[in-house]
Amino acid sequence: MADETRASESSSGGDRPDRGERRPSSRPGGPGGGREGGGPGGRKYFRRKKVCKFCVEKIEAINYKDIRLLAQFVAESGRIVPRRLTGVCTPHQRRLSLAIKQARNIALLPFAGRAA
Ligand SMILES: [Zn+2]
Repeated sequence: MADETRASESSSGGDRPDRGERRPSSRPGGPGGGREGGGPGGRKYFRRKKVCKFCVEKIEAINYKDIRLLAQFVAESGRIVPRRLTGVCTPHQRRLSLAIKQARNIALLPFAGRAA
């Protein structure tokens, strides 16, 4: 008995153009239109470990002048990255956001919603 071997098994379902983030090439410019992002998850952010960086490095007071540090928690748009993505613990996220806001006030960091 010659059993038919399924040599030609058409595997359907592999058609998925995974393009990471999609950017509108031309967005309707306008004042107050600083909305960005909005995909249903799946955005790959830099994710090291799920531990608070400040706890690991034992940074208690976050210096608002330390832009290099702050910049890691500020998105390109100028928004503060939610701690779900960064893994920063709540008390540190609070200080962090405070520091970021201070840094914004002295123009070290961009404001969210502004022209990036
Ligand atoms: Zn922490």
